[in-house]
Amino acid sequence: MSKKQIFEFIDNNEEMFSKIARAIWEHPQMALEETFASDLHAITLEEAGFRVTKGLRGLPTAVMAEYGEGRPVIGLLGEYDALDGLSQDSCAVRKPLVEGGPGHGCGHNLLGTGAMAAAIAVKKAIESGEISGTVRYYGCPAEEELIGKTFMLRDGYFDDLDAALYWHPSSNNAPWKGSSLACISAVFTFRGLTAHAPQAHLGRSALDAVEIMDIGANYLREHLPRTVLMHYSILGNHIAPNTVPDRCQVWYMMRAPKRAELDAAFARLKEVARGAAIITGTEVQSVEIIGSGNDVNANSALGDLMGKNMQECGGPRFTEEDYEYGRKITALFTEDQLVNGARAFSVPMEHLHDVFEIGVNPMPEGFMQPMSVDLDMSWILPVGGANCATWPIGVFTHTWQATACTGTAVGYHGMLFAAKTLAGTVYDLMHDSEEMKKVTEEFEASKADHEYVCPLSHESVPHRVK
Ligand SMILES: [Zn+2]
Repeated sequence: MSKKQIFEFIDNNEEMFSKIARAIWEHPQMALEETFASDLHAITLEEAGFRVTKGLRGLPTAVMAEYGEGRPVIGLLGEYDALDGLSQDSCAVRKPLVEGGPGHGCGHNLLGTGAMAAAIAVKKAIESGEISGTVRYYGCPAEEELIGKTFMLRDGYFDDLDAALYWHPSSNNAPWKGSSLACISAVFTFRGLTAHAPQAHLGRSALDAVEIMDIGANYLREHLPRTVLMHYSILGNHIAPNTVPDRCQVWYMMRAPKRAELDAAFARLKEVARGAAIITGTEVQSVEIIGSGNDVNANSALGDLMGKNMQECGGPRFTEEDYEYGRKITALFTEDQLVNGARAFSVPMEHLHDVFEIGVNPMPEGFMQPMSVDLDMSWILPVGGANCATWPIGVFTHTWQATACTGTAVGYHGMLFAAKTLAGTVYDLMHDSEEMKKVTEEFEASKADHEYVCPLSHESVPHRVK
């Protein structure tokens, strides 16, 4: 089975893969609760003849499916978690299917299904005897909270991989050359002393501690490097104002271009929490790391190979109906919004009014994507990534417009393009040992002075903040 036949196999199965992506889109489930998608992926892969493992340590919705024998062992990384509050019908006006419900505003219904489609196509090529090696699909839960792959890495599930490939829905078509932001996600729990509000002088309010911590953090901002970002959300304690709350939690996420800078800033944030506890006579009961992601160490040799395959398979094939739908979406944006959306994904400005990006435009060397991913494994093994256009130029991830597109042919056409890119790249790695060698050599050089430290303790268990 030649590479051309791999591409044809994916195109010929458009209906099957689109139906899977749509079914997952219709059943959006939050991090660690993705039972529908993980079952569907496991069944599809079992029927396709893979050796399937369902559920990995602490992650019941993870899937691992393997075919082939020997080296190279190439991982294809899928995801399928949804986002809160982004429920949306597949139309170009704001119309939640479930008010306040979850939706696929990051396109992970496409991400997982595209990676799975690539794995199935690669299996066909291995079966035909054209290439040899092991292809392994990973259904990785809870990416949105930077949980899944960080825990899977800690527990050794990627240890024997020679390389891993990843793609993400986007408005551009670009192999990864630069990096993304390191991120840490942590919940601070304060413990105080409860009291009836008229006797509040006897109590110590954990809510006060959280408020003072947030004020402190906002003053801290000015004295952190400008590249450090900080976001927080107070978790509901549902206590009426007539009781002094003895427990309150605040969830922080911090980002920075480099892990070391992030760790230094996070250490200062912990000091702010300690200060808030002293001021309010409470204590910081715990600082729990929920999830974490390092800045990505993108392998350029893999990026180049993915870029070459993007060219070979000819870009996403958007139809006239796709354009009609896309134009309705882009009509929602002002010129400024379009420019910002294009810049965020390094879409060349001359394409601003093209509705879709159909050409391949590699991200400039060193380009920092304004997001974080749980690809810490890029410091342990070579990881290649690419963005593929699944929605119009101007649309950001984590928006209702993204949900609207990922449940339509616009999203499916981008997904098929991604599947071909991934499958073609695995084909090259298995077909040509020189390509694999280039990738490995670049990786060895890139991590020379970088020792990866897993931010999770061995005992910590994956769980969602609710
Ligand atoms: Zn995502």
